[in-house]
Amino acid sequence: MVQRYDFFCIYANNPLFLRKYIKKNVKICICQNIFVPLQLQNEVKAMSKVLLISTGGTITMVRQKGTNALVPADIETFKAFMPELFASDVKVDIQAFTPLIDSSDIGPDSWRKMAQMVVAHYDEYDGFVVLHGTDTMSYSASALSFMLENLGKPVVFTGSQLPVGVLRSDAKENLLTAIEIAAAKDEDGNAIVPEVTIYFEDRLFRANRTTKRNAEHFSAFNSYNYPALAKAGVHITYQPHLVHYNDPRLPLKLHDSFDTNVAVLKLFPGIQQSVVRALLRTRGLKGVVLETFGAGNAPTDKWLYRELKAAVDRGIIIVNKTQCNTGSVEMGLYAVSLNLMKAGVLSGYDITTEALLTKMMLLLGERPEQARELLGKDLCGEMTVD
Ligand code: ASP
Repeated sequence: MVQRYDFFCIYANNPLFLRKYIKKNVKICICQNIFVPLQLQNEVKAMSKVLLISTGGTITMVRQKGTNALVPADIETFKAFMPELFASDVKVDIQAFTPLIDSSDIGPDSWRKMAQMVVAHYDEYDGFVVLHGTDTMSYSASALSFMLENLGKPVVFTGSQLPVGVLRSDAKENLLTAIEIAAAKDEDGNAIVPEVTIYFEDRLFRANRTTKRNAEHFSAFNSYNYPALAKAGVHITYQPHLVHYNDPRLPLKLHDSFDTNVAVLKLFPGIQQSVVRALLRTRGLKGVVLETFGAGNAPTDKWLYRELKAAVDRGIIIVNKTQCNTGSVEMGLYAVSLNLMKAGVLSGYDITTEALLTKMMLLLGERPEQARELLGKDLCGEMTVD
């Protein structure tokens, strides 16, 4: 035995010592009867597993020959740019959409696919990271927050503003930190943030509170009405008191029927009756996000009241969402919102349009008789109901 090895070590207390050599590709032989200290046994047992679900987005993109436009590459190309994925303390497995797609092409079918991947592998992994284009990430992540009832593990969405192969890219930091967050557990072995979240630049946000705010800066997302759940610097600082925890005894339940007969009606000074009427009389329409001014205000024109009231009487659910990023709808604060109340328009409080639309589509698809009642309730931290 002495001749076959360059050196021997009497393995002591610190398992990190061994790991250093494993990373350097030193061939290590562990004798069969070797005594493995308890600390190492615990470490091995505690190694977290994360499933990376790649849908595409800029993070996976390369320039197309001819047009020079960015298009998603394939997952093998992406992996080649990210050797770090397989060198960390977390075991990362990958499942990818084929082909990878730009997030402008993502909708309910893709949300279903992502949620089903989480559900299918729920027991095998400690957490999930979803790679996704930034353009519609807030919609997808909001949708999953409503689809995965009683979620007890982290599902962290991330992406980047520059492709992974670009030198100055934000891809690696975003992805590696998202993986660390998805794997993070407290001293009792419980996930620290068992929610659907978005990690970007240096913040972790509750997904259904986010909006894409910037197409240029690395800080692409913000959560205007709810504080960040964690900030990443030298250390990741979590804010557990802000996290939404489900009862761990309840089983994960998937909801994945969407009814897309919904619309957004954004009010503006000078809006025409014909436009409002055409939208509200769209055949099959079941739900409307009414984007209003300030604290939920609207013009007092009688025709607007009549159109809204008639739509509500036809069974269409209309929810009032302010056009402001920060703050809440307060119907009745100004006289100019009284008509909306009288017409039967619901308050969306401080919800985002992304969360409201996806919640509406899912409730209309899953529980249409309860949709009106549940749209007025906070289901998983998406709005502050006073
Ligand atoms: N168009 C890209 C996408 O949403 C933008 C990005 O990923 O940042 O897929």
